[in-house]
Amino acid sequence: MEQFKELLPEGVNLLAVSKGHSEKSVELLANYGQFDFGESRLQEALPKIKALSHLTKLRWHFVGRLQANKVRGVVKVFDFIHSVDSLVLAERVSRIAAEENRSPRVFLQIKLREDPTKTGFSAEELLEVWPKLISLSNIEIIGLMTIAPFRLDLYTRHKLFVDCRDFANRLYLRECSMGMSGDWEAAVKAGSTWIRIGSFLFGQRAK
Ligand SMILES: *Cc1c(COP(=O)(O)O)cnc(C)c1O
Repeated sequence: MEQFKELLPEGVNLLAVSKGHSEKSVELLANYGQFDFGESRLQEALPKIKALSHLTKLRWHFVGRLQANKVRGVVKVFDFIHSVDSLVLAERVSRIAAEENRSPRVFLQIKLREDPTKTGFSAEELLEVWPKLISLSNIEIIGLMTIAPFRLDLYTRHKLFVDCRDFANRLYLRECSMGMSGDWEAAVKAGSTWIRIGSFLFGQRAK
């Protein structure tokens, strides 16, 4: 893990996606100085976060699809949300964060290529609602997040990641959450600032 971090250029953050893995595995990586962890299901994350609350340096990132009825639970315990994919959801996060006296850092999930299995703003949608998004309180929009469609080869993925980086730059957003175990190098070359790595760090998930 330490060697892996040394491979990453300055400014690229490693998010260890611990879904499907135990709190023991998280603790092990924390002992090596890894403090950012990602989870995609609230029910699975809550007991883990609680069990590890003695590790005060940990920062939790929600990376899964965020359902409306899970927003309060997520806002209460997660520091970052990578998967805000609509204006309605952003407004809800903002309102509930204000009620809970929280201010999560948010990535807007965008979908720049057709993919029926993923959600996300199209470029046009995002531009249209952008003024409303940036006026919301209690959420700090720090970047864009994207997931490459499963079928794309690495070359096409790289092009998609470059498009995501360009779009973030156009909106003056610093962060890009892109790249997973299978395509992180292409994402880093394109200017990712957060790579989300699960199986490459933890091994295969049980499910
Ligand atoms: C599971 C997951 C990852 C990590 O996937 P790996 O291929 O195991 O690295 C990254 N991002 C999201 C949104 C995920 O759900």
